[in-house]
Amino acid sequence: MNKTKSLHIFNESKKYMPGGVNSPVRAFKDVSVNPPVMKKGNGAIIYDEDDKSYIDFVGAWGPMILGHCDEDVVKAIKEMSENAIAFGAPTEVELKLAEHICNTVDNVDMIRMVNSGTEATMSAVKLARGYTGKNKIIKFAGCYHGHFDGFLVSAGSGVMTEGIPGSAGVPQDSIKNTLIANYNDINSIKEIFKNHGEDIAGVIIEPVAGNMGVVPAEKDFLLELHRLCHEYGSLLIFDEVMSGFRVAYKGAQSLHGIKPDLVTFAKIMGGGLPCGAYGGRREIMEKLSPIGPVYQAGTMSGNPIVMAAGYATLKKLYDHPEYYEKLEKLGSKLERGVKEIAKEKGINVVVNRCKAMMTIFFTDLDQIKNYEDAKKCNTKLYASFFQHMLEKGIYIAPSQFEAMFLSVKHEDEHIDKFLEAMRSWKQI
Ligand SMILES: *Cc1c(COP(=O)(O)O)cnc(C)c1O
Repeated sequence: MNKTKSLHIFNESKKYMPGGVNSPVRAFKDVSVNPPVMKKGNGAIIYDEDDKSYIDFVGAWGPMILGHCDEDVVKAIKEMSENAIAFGAPTEVELKLAEHICNTVDNVDMIRMVNSGTEATMSAVKLARGYTGKNKIIKFAGCYHGHFDGFLVSAGSGVMTEGIPGSAGVPQDSIKNTLIANYNDINSIKEIFKNHGEDIAGVIIEPVAGNMGVVPAEKDFLLELHRLCHEYGSLLIFDEVMSGFRVAYKGAQSLHGIKPDLVTFAKIMGGGLPCGAYGGRREIMEKLSPIGPVYQAGTMSGNPIVMAAGYATLKKLYDHPEYYEKLEKLGSKLERGVKEIAKEKGINVVVNRCKAMMTIFFTDLDQIKNYEDAKKCNTKLYASFFQHMLEKGIYIAPSQFEAMFLSVKHEDEHIDKFLEAMRSWKQI
């Protein structure tokens, strides 16, 4: 094969950036191909440096729900950047976004802007500790909350698994207060509360998990989790960095009517620019510096261009509730088609979908409900599928354990092309 421009750039990048990337999954290691280097995006289509086009089912890992370079978002960024790039001072546009989120999303009286999802979750956890005066945090195996030390605990399995660092460079001391429970398994949570209840500051969960592939939490499980948190005086933190403004405008919390104490956002809320935020009940948020004792700060937090892009995105989503109907329609068409084709081909799959988030799990299991199930999937088969789809111009996540995302710029024809490509796959 001729050396392409994409490959040349990627090879050069490896000389200057570890693995040639700034975030590991982009290196496509799990699927044994070189990643195309991207140049341009328009609606549902992205183009690499060799002008090959792809129908994009990654959407920058979620943020691009309006499609690439949506005209209103581009306009907002352009207009703001003519006058304001950064001040490190209060601005009106940050008020607009904060007010908009507090007024349109439930259980968020006040909000603090940060620069990434990682920052949002680590700060929310600190706030939960500062508010409750307790130390321990429960997280669920297979949930990802960013690369903060305290959360980089290898899933391990089973109730009460002692935390083991999942990354080099994480001292045992920084995870000794992280307890791991099993997703969708209320007994695992009860057991931990029974043993550590007095010292649990909070429980953090992706209410629709997207980082072990898509695995929605069951309603009864979430209700019971909420009740337990209440009983023990621990805060329930919904990490809606991925699900917020995606599975519904009001996020996963609105699907089941559960009231978390704190919620974290990022991805969609920045319209594709680096952002994050955490919010919740006023009495909790008022523990934050400068009015409270919990210190958290950021030079770039609430950056005007980011706020303008986020506001344009959220306002457009809020003003167009029919977008969510469209996403559901496209999602269910994709889900049905994938299941049909898998059946024709005699491949066993479980398709987990929550609205515009979906994962095709290659597995002989009947369902994927937690990390243990997800880990048993056939990642080799996924790699073969991925390589074929990429070749056909269908860009999906380069890992079995990630979600694929739809945007409002996807149309029936894009779903048809996905299915057509899948149909022509000759699995190994
Ligand atoms: C992406 C993600 C994060 C981390 O966000 P970054 O902006 O990459 O730091 C945290 N939690 C969830 C649920 C995510 O999907």
